[in-house]
Amino acid sequence: MKIIFLDNDGVICLQKNWGSRFKKQHAIDGWKDLPDWKRPTYDLFDNFDRKAIKTLNQIISDSDAEIVVSSDWRLKASIEDIGGYYLEQGIIKAPIDYTRVITEFDYPDNFPFYRSMLSEQNRSLEIKDWLSRNDVTHWVAIDDMDMRSNGRKWGLDNFVWTPNSLEGIKQTGKKQEILNYLL
Ligand SMILES: [Mg+2]
Repeated sequence: MKIIFLDNDGVICLQKNWGSRFKKQHAIDGWKDLPDWKRPTYDLFDNFDRKAIKTLNQIISDSDAEIVVSSDWRLKASIEDIGGYYLEQGIIKAPIDYTRVITEFDYPDNFPFYRSMLSEQNRSLEIKDWLSRNDVTHWVAIDDMDMRSNGRKWGLDNFVWTPNSLEGIKQTGKKQEILNYLL
């Protein structure tokens, strides 16, 4: 099985999309009174960038990889609901799973813990945890947080960093960088 561990914000949901959920919420009568769990899923999340989705779809077609969501969006909706949202937004495959939430209390003994890198370290461990529980031949993690190994023990070897939140995954060269891990 080939896996893409996918972050959303800064990867396929880009800076100009941030906040687009509020427009959708305003379109619904009485939206202000609805708690998050009563809102339709499309209404909870910002739109994805059309060109970023096109890039992602090309990667999926070329590699036949599956998506596992590592983004914090996984805390807001079920995998079924987020799957529906992915399809509605034009992604050709719904994600098959979420990574499991890990906190600093779950860190292995003698873990090289840095408070300033807490989010990066957690997400990196969450991805390693998913890999340890599944049969994976090829994988890559994509994120706008820097989880490169670069000599850091907790970092990820198969990692593509998208530091430009205006460009995300559609930045020149990123598609090939990602495919190199999947083909
Ligand atoms: Mg992000």
